[in-house]
Amino acid sequence: MGMMDRSIRGFLLTELVAGMKLTFSYMFRRKATVNYPFEKGPISPRFRGEHALRRYANGEERCIACKLCEAICPAQAITIEAEPREDGSRRTTRYDIDMTKCIYCGFCQEACPVDAIVEGPNFEFATETREELFYNKDRLLANGDRWESEIAANIAKDAPYR
Ligand code: SF4
Ligand code: SF4
Repeated sequence: MGMMDRSIRGFLLTELVAGMKLTFSYMFRRKATVNYPFEKGPISPRFRGEHALRRYANGEERCIACKLCEAICPAQAITIEAEPREDGSRRTTRYDIDMTKCIYCGFCQEACPVDAIVEGPNFEFATETREELFYNKDRLLANGDRWESEIAANIAKDAPYR
């Protein structure tokens, strides 16, 4: 570009006008971003988020302490202890997940014969300390109670493809 050309463009502010034109054209297009956390995008039914332990509708824990999830976990993040109850049913006395080890592979969910341990839709569980990421049974059951309707809907949506 010659000196004259550059001078004319500079004098007429053509590049500034071209830039403003491009900027204004985007004002009327559909936004590619969402105003998180006030808006959130859609999440797949197969999304693997924070873990939860589910209950049946009568409040009984689903988990039968078979320990398949513990055995299959490649990160060895799950620790289970169990003993029979007075009624003969087998239930966990301890169910811990070390979320700092978890790689969110979903194997625990896949291995569970009763859909007890699941990875729910919650992805907002960042913490300030490592200790807060050592989940125990109470925490996991509370997650299950909180997210049960979403989890059940996601399992139902995914069922035809399994
Ligand atoms: S998602 Fe994978 S790594 Fe995490 S607890 Fe389950 S099996 Fe282990
Ligand atoms: S969560 Fe499922 S796989 Fe794990 S011990 Fe309980 S019933 Fe077995």
